[in-house]
Amino acid sequence: MIRNLNVKKLTVFVATIFTLTFTTSSVTPNASSEPAIPLKPTAVSQPVRTIVLDPGHGGKDAGARGLRANEKDIVLEVALKLGKKIEKELPGVRVIYTRKTDVFIPLYERPAVANKNKADLFISIHCNAAATRRSPARGTETLVCGYSRLGQQDAAIRENASILLEDNYEENYGGFDPKDPSSMIVFQLMKNQYRRESIKLASLMQDKFSTSRRPDRGVKEQSLAVLSTAGMPAVLTELGFMSNSTEENYMLSTAGQNEIIQNLFDAIKTYKTAAER
Ligand SMILES: [Zn+2]
Repeated sequence: MIRNLNVKKLTVFVATIFTLTFTTSSVTPNASSEPAIPLKPTAVSQPVRTIVLDPGHGGKDAGARGLRANEKDIVLEVALKLGKKIEKELPGVRVIYTRKTDVFIPLYERPAVANKNKADLFISIHCNAAATRRSPARGTETLVCGYSRLGQQDAAIRENASILLEDNYEENYGGFDPKDPSSMIVFQLMKNQYRRESIKLASLMQDKFSTSRRPDRGVKEQSLAVLSTAGMPAVLTELGFMSNSTEENYMLSTAGQNEIIQNLFDAIKTYKTAAER
């Protein structure tokens, strides 16, 4: 399993290097000796085989409190049902959960689960809350990691890259060395690509929520510890406001949960189809 996944990531590496080489030579013919780093490297097919679902909070950390329920319980229910639907309707996709019960998981361990399992997507599921119950705030929003924390991804990406070295990389790569300073360009490209892919998935989630007439608060960039060390596309979606009784009731109801799960599933499926083209 690990071997196959390594080969997959190695393929992405090679494709990225090829893209860089190709774009550099085609964009700057005889212009200067400075290599041009493409802003948008050609997309390479990246199969979505492993998805980590991360229900926020748990155990002693209840998350946002509503009148009838706690955030930690709603997001766990939604994550478990979503995972079941993914495994049933997207054959070949493995779902891993950061928690399947009401237990406390430290923040840093959540993306670590995704890194360890070489996941293709990391999806953290939360509910929002306004400062006071009198606030009219409602609707969904999906967050991606902002630039301020992107530096922290470097270690995760490098760590994954060093694992790649276990697979006779010299035979496959003619001596490509991820520790070489010049390959930092490749890491930068991977990092930018993760960010672009994260925004793609987040936008799809917001689009799908809108089809259920949920108020769309948009895709936002934030410095989030839970996303910053994920070495893959990663989003945090807020299903609605616990501070708003109507939304709390919606998120607690079977009909509401089914709609939310269908929205998230549709977004993941659309993302997966596009990524694998
Ligand atoms: Zn939360």
